[in-house]
Amino acid sequence: MYDNPYGILHIYYLSGRLAPEPEDFGGAYLGNWEEDDTSFLFFSRPAPESVDALLAAQPHLSLIDTFQMSYDQWQGGAIEPQAIAGVVLQPPWVDPPPASAPDAVVLKLDPGLVFGNGTHPTTADCIRALKAAFSRKPAPETILDLGTGTGVLALAAAGLGGRRILAVDLNPLATRTAHRNIAINELSDRVLVVRGRAETFIETSADLLVANIHFAVLQEVMASTGFDRKRQVVLSGLLRSEARTVENELLRRDFRIRQVWRRDGTWCTIHATSGAKPPL
Ligand code: SAH
Repeated sequence: MYDNPYGILHIYYLSGRLAPEPEDFGGAYLGNWEEDDTSFLFFSRPAPESVDALLAAQPHLSLIDTFQMSYDQWQGGAIEPQAIAGVVLQPPWVDPPPASAPDAVVLKLDPGLVFGNGTHPTTADCIRALKAAFSRKPAPETILDLGTGTGVLALAAAGLGGRRILAVDLNPLATRTAHRNIAINELSDRVLVVRGRAETFIETSADLLVANIHFAVLQEVMASTGFDRKRQVVLSGLLRSEARTVENELLRRDFRIRQVWRRDGTWCTIHATSGAKPPL
């Protein structure tokens, strides 16, 4: 049994990035989310002494604010099992697993503190788009997941039949979380998680690219020659006007748009196949 390890989160919002991350932050330390030149340190108990010691040791850091909230508030609601296009995302602390359809793909997912718990419309539509991508012949065998977050789409790709999956994220807390999720599903022989930039890893060859990522990053990814070599692409994280730009660029690059999922009048997810190359 795997207990929900998250109760009240004690969050310290700092200006600057930790360099290096202290080796011993105590047992209450959950992780650090870095964004631009700021850091959010998460603890399961108040940790003013640990943070004071850090600020004294690394004077380039300063405390901007502190917050407390429940894990469910942080996640935008309690994390429940969810079924999306035949893929069931199961929090490991919910025991026993719910009854699911006999051919359902059941995956354990501990979102921890990073993006990708399955409730965001872009994540859910990416799973629907992955299902569509895997139903085409030949089915994709190698998959590149750029901006993996919790690893949710890499896991779904493995569950749907992917043989070799590379999951990439810039953020160390995301790669740690994704790595743990791959391990609890015993999929380490098929999914490799690496820390790095999507803009670099797009050159890795793969049958299928899935990227639920900021538009600015996606534009750089699409500008690469590695992008053109993907047989199928699932692109998300796009607002309506951004999606139009991406669709035009896909057509210009000889891709065929197979389906676009539009959610809440806001979020778009695109599935396209390369028109330029004959299938294997
Ligand atoms: N794939 C998950 C998470 C998407 S959130 C899902 O669909 O739910 C987007 C992720 O992209 C975040 O984890 C963020 O850290 C990562 N990211 C942002 N910019 C990046 C970049 N340039 N290279 C790699 N990862 C990046």
